[in-house]
Amino acid sequence: MTVTVQDPGPQPDSFDPEWVRAKHAFERAKRLRTDAVDQFIEVTAEFSHYADDPYTAFAERDPVSDEVEVLIIGAGLGSLLAAVRLRQAGFEDIRIVDKAGDVGGTWYWNRYPGAQCDIESYIYLPLLEELGYIPSRRYAFGPEIRKHCIAIAKQFDLYRNSLFQTAVTGMEWNDDTRRWTVSTDRDDAITANIVLVSPGPLSRPKLPGIPGINEFRGHTFHTSRWDYSYTGGDESGELTELGDKTVGIIGTGATALQCVPHLGKGAGKLYVFQRTPAAVDARGDRPTDPDWAASLQPGWQRERMENFTRMTAGAGANVDLVDDGWTQVSDELTTPAVMREFQRRGGQMTLEEIGDFLFEEDYKSMEKVRNRIASIVEDPDTAEKLKPWYKRLCKRLSFHDSYLQTFNRDNVELVDTNGKGLDRLTADGVVVGDVEYKVDALVFATGFEVGTSYTRRSGFDIVGRGSVRLSDKWAKGPRTFHGLQSHDFPNCFFLGYTQTGIAHNYVHTAEERARHLAYILTEWRDRGGSLVEADQQAEDDWVRTMAETTEMGKQFFADCTPSYLDSEGDTHNPDSLLSAGYGGGPVAFFELLEQWRATGSLDGVTIA
Ligand code: NDP
Repeated sequence: MTVTVQDPGPQPDSFDPEWVRAKHAFERAKRLRTDAVDQFIEVTAEFSHYADDPYTAFAERDPVSDEVEVLIIGAGLGSLLAAVRLRQAGFEDIRIVDKAGDVGGTWYWNRYPGAQCDIESYIYLPLLEELGYIPSRRYAFGPEIRKHCIAIAKQFDLYRNSLFQTAVTGMEWNDDTRRWTVSTDRDDAITANIVLVSPGPLSRPKLPGIPGINEFRGHTFHTSRWDYSYTGGDESGELTELGDKTVGIIGTGATALQCVPHLGKGAGKLYVFQRTPAAVDARGDRPTDPDWAASLQPGWQRERMENFTRMTAGAGANVDLVDDGWTQVSDELTTPAVMREFQRRGGQMTLEEIGDFLFEEDYKSMEKVRNRIASIVEDPDTAEKLKPWYKRLCKRLSFHDSYLQTFNRDNVELVDTNGKGLDRLTADGVVVGDVEYKVDALVFATGFEVGTSYTRRSGFDIVGRGSVRLSDKWAKGPRTFHGLQSHDFPNCFFLGYTQTGIAHNYVHTAEERARHLAYILTEWRDRGGSLVEADQQAEDDWVRTMAETTEMGKQFFADCTPSYLDSEGDTHNPDSLLSAGYGGGPVAFFELLEQWRATGSLDGVTIA
């Protein structure tokens, strides 16, 4: 698809909605591609080394052939929370399996310099009260989060029976024994009553399908497999081996924002290849105030987590406990702002007026971001290229306090590709337009697979009752009841972004799902069941609810610049995140689950 949209020319002095709409459309058109998520390369075959584990030496072991009550595939935060809630509900026989060498999921893999949570650590690091731990700073760095994951696994005895460096290759349901058989790349054959599948929402690295990607002869790696043997240093930076090297980094998303300052400091020369600028705002990180930590009362973490989700979902709250960029922007650009304006106008606003009001508020918010860029970046041309032109909520919000400053270094150069991406790679470097940028190393900060099928991202297929394959059943997108279960796949629970309530704080989504799962499995055990399955009708109804409630979100993204959030502009991709999140929002979804549990009738779920 070649969409020709005219450049609206220079920015007028004051807000002109027509000009802004034309500018958004112009920038979007540059980025829009017919191949959408297919523009990326899977890290398989000749690219599989991009997913190799650089952190843990491979350890041989004998295959395992045994039976467990609960098998959990994945050892990230979602799995750990589910395992903990099951342990607390009295489930003892739990086994965690993961490809990685330890627990942590995304925090096991993402060890790039500067990796830091982008949600406040007091609500992002789970189980703080259970562990009696307070993070050292407001936005914890990767090593502290990884250490916390390990502490959770130790405290709840989750290492017992676990299998790391083990990739599941398939699982098959046996209707006679009412058990799953799970096979792995270590020749294990594990039988399980219950399987939780938790591949993580953003876990499979992806590469851009740039012509010549195989021709580059320098050093390359993906940010989620950082090669410190090449760069020197560690997660705190100090990349001591790059002083005589020219390095290129592809991508300017959340990951790049965090590692570019370290590459800028360490590399002899750094090129930052940009396709779409990030709307980078101030982070405001700080060490934890011990007096504040000492003042916290029991139940504080759950209260804070719920408050943040209410604030960022536009559900409003009497007090903003987190009070950071996330909550402030949400307050300015969603329902609370409309409510204030509504009152200001004496309770009179048409839908069109609400739309116009939000559009202007969005412009003001983005102007603040653009003005901040201009005030920090000294070279006006670079500053101009770093300015984003899309609605603020089109991309995940981003915050960093030293990314923009890095462009003031003499050894750092922004290479803007004007929305087109790189033209090609050569043996020696990167071509953009007429220029070849020669580099010794290329770092792919190009993100993770989103919007491809669940089974592809999991790395294996699931064969349910009557040999039904999940890849077939979900060929047009996930089909679940409440995001957790799918008919014909009994005793299997999906912990991904599968028709569930998606909070900006992933850990809140994971926590609510873990509680719900623990409730269902406790009922299953207490009622003496051997089978627990979603009913067909309940699933059909939920699929319909999802289709109806996600429509508004898709409309919002219709004029956004493409990103992984909207499957690169393919808003109706059934595997897109836009189809995965309950449209009523996470607060309503969590309440819906709570009400469902409160009835005690397990409507839509059969236990037999
Ligand atoms: P993203 O998908 O957000 O960014 C990928 C980058 O690669 C984009 O800038 C993209 O450009 C660019 N890119 C892709 N293809 C090309 C191409 N052909 N030529 C040039 N550039 C290209 O991945 P990230 O890893 O940055 O972040 C993914 C998500 O992970 C975040 O949004 C966040 O949810 C999570 N994350 C969380 C963190 C935290 O909590 N600390 C930290 C880091 C990540 P374009 O913008 O044009 O698509």
